Amino acid sequence: MIIHLQENISVDNARKISSELEGKLIFNNENKLIITSSKMKSIDKKYEDFISEKFVLESDIQLSSKDYIKKTRKVKINNIEVGGETNNTLMITGPCSIESKEQIRESANLLKKLNLTTLRAGCFKPRTSPYSFQGLGVEGLKMLSDIRDEFGFNIISEVKDASHVDDVIKYTDIIQIGAKAMYDHGILRETGQQNKPVLLKRGFGSNLQEFVQAAEFILSEGNPNVILCERGIRTFETKTRFTLDLCGVSFLKEYTNLPIILDTSHAMGYSYGVPDLTRACVAMGIDGLLIESHPNPKVAKSDASQQLNFKEFEEMFSSLVPICNAVNRNLI
Ligand code: PEP
Ligand code: MN
Repeated sequence: MIIHLQENISVDNARKISSELEGKLIFNNENKLIITSSKMKSIDKKYEDFISEKFVLESDIQLSSKDYIKKTRKVKINNIEVGGETNNTLMITGPCSIESKEQIRESANLLKKLNLTTLRAGCFKPRTSPYSFQGLGVEGLKMLSDIRDEFGFNIISEVKDASHVDDVIKYTDIIQIGAKAMYDHGILRETGQQNKPVLLKRGFGSNLQEFVQAAEFILSEGNPNVILCERGIRTFETKTRFTLDLCGVSFLKEYTNLPIILDTSHAMGYSYGVPDLTRACVAMGIDGLLIESHPNPKVAKSDASQQLNFKEFEEMFSSLVPICNAVNRNLI
């Protein structure tokens, strides 16, 4: 149950009620809420004077439910917005990993040429082997931040574990929580205590309920700026890296109020399939895309097989514009 408290309630009273109901309290200028387990379907009359409104939800998809907020939330990323009434489809691109100043400058020039706003590159890479390139760490974040200062882009980079969550929060405009970190409660809690947008990737072994409940951890700490990212799940299929769950995307659009970004690069795993898959995604009417591109994918230090070179990226990008127009979306 989501309980909206009266505007004038004191923090002590709100805390007391929240603890009696074993709920989570969000208490700030905009919101005074208690969220209890969805198993609670009614509330004692003694609390009525403190409550302005209450919402009984079917499951623990609560703050993110369309039964609570009927429209997709608007998330503001500095000078741009996704979700809400915007009809924007945000194109996020950049290399899987930042590898050098020269490499990221080439990527920045691609974005500038295409008038794009949001540059992504990983600095802390959640690799499957300890012997592979692990990322440039804070040094990479500082390079990204210099590029932001020079070009004015929004920067997104991923947090892999709680040891560097503060650094990622400090240097980025959108915090990415990677698929393998979806269940890391330390990261979910800490990013939930910020106001910065968080892009939460779906764990590849997680079902939709678990995915959205991970988002609830962030929302229930008080951060309303959560964006979901479908990036493929593991199935019996081995010819592609993962299976992009577009049925799941329809579910998320229908039942949750969070903007949705699709990552076709990690789902497909091979650059040959990324443009077609991306066109299919755009046709669904989505809030954004995450596509890996690299000045020379052959020598990329991570995810080499799936990154588009700049020519491939530009060709794909121009093919998306008419599809966006057809589904009444603006590609930004
Ligand atoms: C990435 O975005 O480069 C990445 C490692 O993705 P995921 O967390 O989806 O595996
Ligand atoms: Mn990658």
